[in-house]
Formats: sequence, C-alpha cells, structure tokens
Amino acid sequence: MFDSLSQKLSQAMKALRGETRLTEANLEAVLREVRMALLEADVHVAVARTFLQRVKEKALGAEVMQGLNPAQAFIDIVHRELVEIMGGEAPEHPLAFAPKPPTVVMMVGLQGAGKTTTCGKLAVFLKKLGRSPLLVPADVYRPAAIEQLHVVAKDAGVPSFRTDEKDPVRICEAALTEAKLKGWDTVILDTAGRLHLDEALMEELVSIKAAVPPDEILFVADAMTGQDAVRSATAFHGKLGTTGVVLTKTDGDTRGGAAFSIKQATGTPLKFVGEGEKLEDFQRFHPDRMAQRILGMGDVLSLIEHAKDKLDEKETEAMAQRLAKNQFTLEDMRKQFQQVKKLGSMNKILGMLPGMGQMKEQIAQVATDKRLSHMEAILNSMTPKERANHNLLDAKRKRRIAAGSGRPVSEINQLLKQYVEARKMMGQMNDPKFMNRMQRMAG
Ligand code: GDP
Repeated sequence: MFDSLSQKLSQAMKALRGETRLTEANLEAVLREVRMALLEADVHVAVARTFLQRVKEKALGAEVMQGLNPAQAFIDIVHRELVEIMGGEAPEHPLAFAPKPPTVVMMVGLQGAGKTTTCGKLAVFLKKLGRSPLLVPADVYRPAAIEQLHVVAKDAGVPSFRTDEKDPVRICEAALTEAKLKGWDTVILDTAGRLHLDEALMEELVSIKAAVPPDEILFVADAMTGQDAVRSATAFHGKLGTTGVVLTKTDGDTRGGAAFSIKQATGTPLKFVGEGEKLEDFQRFHPDRMAQRILGMGDVLSLIEHAKDKLDEKETEAMAQRLAKNQFTLEDMRKQFQQVKKLGSMNKILGMLPGMGQMKEQIAQVATDKRLSHMEAILNSMTPKERANHNLLDAKRKRRIAAGSGRPVSEINQLLKQYVEARKMMGQMNDPKFMNRMQRMAG
C-alpha cells in the first residue's frame, strides 16, 4: 500500500547523495519532497508536519557526528521516525491474552469494513499460534451476516456459535459460557455494524462490553476510506475504549495514509492488516518492518513468516541465518526467485525482498513473470561457484552466461548491480559498527 510513498521517498533522498553534511539548506529541499510524498500518500497534514519537524531536529543535531554519510544518517532518522509515528515497537504478543481463558476479542466497526472476514482471518492466525478460537455472530439485524460468519468459520476450520437467542448481549454471554464448557480459549465476537456512526449501535456495543467484558476491542477500518477510517476509529475509541485497530483492504488502491494517523489519533496501535479477500491474507502490523519496507530496505522477517506456511522450514531457516550473517550470494538470490514463484502475489513478495522494492516499477514495465524467469535463467546459467562468488564473473564468463540463458550481457550486469546493492544494504543493517554509530547518534 505504500509503493508510491516508498518510491517518492527514495527519490527525495537521492538529493542528499554526494553531500558531506546535513545542513538547513540541503535538508530544506529534501524535506519539502518528503512532505509532498507524505501528503500524496494521504497522510494527515498535521501528522506530516509533526513528522517533518522531528526529522529536521534530529537531522540537524546529527550534523556533528563523524564518519557517517549524510544520506545514510538521514535515512536512519526517517526510519526511526516512521517507526515512531506508526506506533513504535510492536509488543511481543499480538493480543492481550487473558491469563485465565477464554480471551474475549470484540470486533467493532462500520458495515462493510471487513469485520466478518477479519474474524475468520484472526481465527486462522490464532490457530497457527496453537489457540482454539470460537466465532460468535452477534449481528442480529442481518441474518445474512450470521450465515456469512458460519461460512467463514467453516473455511477457517473453527467452530461458530449457534443459538436461537435474538439479543446480542445474551448471545455473547451464552457463547462465553459455552467456550468455558468446551475449552475454546479465544472467543471472537462479530458485532453489528452500521453504514454510519449511530447512537443506538454504540449503546448496544457498550452493553456487550459491560456484560462480557472483552480483553481486546478491535476496531476494523477500511483502508480505502482513508482519513474517514481515522475519524471513525477515533469515534469508536471515544465510546468504547478500543484497544487496537485492524486496517483492511490494504491490497486495494489505497495510499496507506491512515496507517500513519491511527496511533496518534486514537492512542491505540494498528495491530493487524488485511491484505486480500482470502483468509490467509492477514498479518500482524510491525511498524519497524513496515518502515523498512517503505524505505526499500525490504522486510525479510515478514517474508520468512509468510513463506513458512508454504516452504520447507529448514531451507527458510538456513536462508534467514545466511541473511543475518551477511552471506547473501547469488545462489540465495536464485532461491529467492524460486520461492517467489511458489508464493504467488508477485507485488507483495517483491516489496519484502531487500533492494527489490525500488525495482518494482522497472519490473512492472515488462511482464513480471517473464522478467523473473529471465533473471532466473541468467542465474541458472551460472556455475555453483559463480553463484557463490560473484567476483568471478568477468567479461568472458558473462558472455558464456548470456549465450546459455539467451539474455543480453547488459541484463546480466543489471542483475549483478541489483545484487550488489541488496547485499550492501544488508551489510549496513548487520554491521555492528554501523548500528553502534546509529545508536550513539540517536542517544
Ligand atoms: P463487515 O460488514 O464489516 O462484516 O464486512 P465483510 O467482512 O462482509 O467484508 C466486506 C467486503 O470486503 C467483502 O466483500 C470482503 O471480501 C471484503 N474484504 C474484507 N477484507 C478485505 C481485504 O483485506 N482485502 C480485500 N480486497 N477485500 C476485503
């Protein structure tokens, strides 16, 4: 959802390349560009202003630090501030699980935001954590909504609560009793929504909250509605004391600005994002990982989590270790391509791979699959030794690879350049000296 922001930011930061210091003068132009990028991404004006002020203060303070390239220093500051604005470090546990089960999660939000779908997604997510959820339809006004939840529960492979009871509060109470009896450790309440904020609905939700009471009240917001999502999140929080937000439909044509304002507007974190209609299209929201993706640093951790379901665990484990040790070779790149093929949704995956974010647009220009298979053909035409050590690739070898893969030498060079950049980026993120310097600077 942040593709365009990501591109614009990296464009803006290029202006700092070659500068020797961060000064008012060179910062001004970059900050102006960053501001435009944020506003175009639908970030609220006030949020953007605060963000830029903080970045500027830190950047000017950083001027005195020795031995840092200003572009790197600036990116690090922007990264930290992005993390901060999106809610800081994500907590260890995705939800506040009750010490004594069942944990009660109440889903609230406007009609069509994606509540029912999200109940199913959360159930699948929790099942993977070894929990046993029960879905509870508490939207008594739309029989179709109740049926929809039963269907979602079936797809998710979890039970849903059936009753003849017509009162939402009593339904929730009865479901809780049943959960205790049958040992379901997480009860997810799918409450009624309205098209607009509505007093009667709020009263009903307040009664449910008082009767059950929930450990988490998650506001489900449609990312496509932009700043409106932030306003309703604030209104629901005011009435109900929501504990977190789920932003749905981030796979759509949304610019993502809502993700920046939610924490600040409601004081509650963005906990999860929905990124498609399927029950698996759902992830925890990690501000630090998202900030890395926005800055084109990739998000290897999320990729690995996503991949875990589909791939051989040992192989992903080994790859994670190699990435952490900065031993990323062309062979790893080749494996990445093979994984990408297995994982589906090209755009999503590319954004998660370090260094690939920037290349997305380039890739999109040609048919993506074709392009990837060309790159793979190039890698396949190398010998294992070459893939383990790209320095071996002299002109003669490149010509051989070109003939073998049927691709021009320029394409081989392009791939190598991309590889070297990705590797450099990882090196920086892993180099303790670099990290120490960054920490001292922030300290
Ligand atoms: P509710 O009225 O709040 O319960 O909303 P629903 O769960 O019925 O969702 C409304 C529509 O949004 C349905 O067509 C869902 O398939 C769709 N939807 C929900 N979440 C997502 C998402 O993350 N991405 C996309 N593309 N569609 C979604």
